[in-house]
Amino acid sequence: MHYLCDMLAVAEIIEQKLFSRDNLVTLLRAEGADGLLLLKKAGELKLQTIGNKVYFRGLIELSNVCEKDCLYCGIRRSNKNIERYNLTDEEVLEAAQFASLEQYGSIVIQSGEVTSERFAARIERLISQIKSASGNKLGITLSLGEQRKDVYKRWFEAGAHRYLLRIESSNPELYRQLHPEDGHHRYEQRLDALNLIRKTGYQIGTGVMIGTPMQTVQDLASDLLFFKDFDIDMVGMGPFIEHDDTPFRVPADDALSLADRFNLSLKMVAILRLMMPDINIAATTALQAIDPLGREKAVKAGANIIMPNITPGRYRKNYLLYNNKPCTGEEPEQCSGCMDARLALTDSEIGYGEWGDSLHFKKRENENSSFARIVNDALQGVGNE
Ligand code: SAH
Repeated sequence: MHYLCDMLAVAEIIEQKLFSRDNLVTLLRAEGADGLLLLKKAGELKLQTIGNKVYFRGLIELSNVCEKDCLYCGIRRSNKNIERYNLTDEEVLEAAQFASLEQYGSIVIQSGEVTSERFAARIERLISQIKSASGNKLGITLSLGEQRKDVYKRWFEAGAHRYLLRIESSNPELYRQLHPEDGHHRYEQRLDALNLIRKTGYQIGTGVMIGTPMQTVQDLASDLLFFKDFDIDMVGMGPFIEHDDTPFRVPADDALSLADRFNLSLKMVAILRLMMPDINIAATTALQAIDPLGREKAVKAGANIIMPNITPGRYRKNYLLYNNKPCTGEEPEQCSGCMDARLALTDSEIGYGEWGDSLHFKKRENENSSFARIVNDALQGVGNE
């Protein structure tokens, strides 16, 4: 194989942790035995670093009302074929109570994007109510899009402590192609939002869709480097799946098959686990839309977070981000038993009743506070002289 001599083998790249952009492309293209090796190594590293626990985040899809018009998304503003809904406060609190009773440890409140003061105040109130009703036990992650600085702060002070905002693509040009140019979808604004969220004090999560129109494998390699450079605490990424009521309803001739998008997504999870061993990585629902055991496969390849849907069943058909979204005909109760059985297949233990915070975040916090102590001590020393 001398003609490939300047290309490193998959095993070498993993062993020596040589995650340059070119090597990441090699890993993303790994097939057959090489592909399996990658998934296996990532699974092993997860067990060595953070163990075999998987944490649940009960997902509450609060509302599909959205001010944005993302070209790929089923709940985009221009889609007139869905009934818009808002869960009542009571329904949100009941869902949170269900998560508490089931010992889920945490919930995620997700919604279409709304930037009104009314929405901000409502979320703030709900966070406080959920915190006090659960005796502060339930952890709260938010996935409510781009908001103002003061809104992030109010929600953080009310008790939410993690925030998910996918960058969707770290390539500004591709970001532009995936969103309309209507002044509401700017890459720089998204990046600013991520920085604000981090500064507010949240554990920060981001992610991308895998296999979108116009995306290349080099883009995905850059996405992985973006996660590393941004020093994220958590990630949620999964395959792009067409939605019939969006401009991207028909796959282009050169589009990846769903199976290829799925395999690429598993490799993205595995590679990121190798690059960032102590972050939280979600096994996303979109994986399950392509392969019924998709999330379990992701857990084996390095993921450690699952988000069982606890939205009341009758709303779920209206929160279809993409075609064939799973579990839309079910009620929350049906999910819990199902998840136990599924995860038993992966030799994982479920971290019932635990927040399962990102170890990466904790380490950074500790480093920051010991750094602050050193600076403090040094300054006190100066004062005493
Ligand atoms: N409005 C919120 C969250 C709702 S959408 C926000 O902007 O953060 C949550 C995620 O679903 C999006 O970030 C996107 O990555 C994903 N998504 C949307 N449409 C999708 C599709 N067609 N296929 C796969 N994932 C999709």
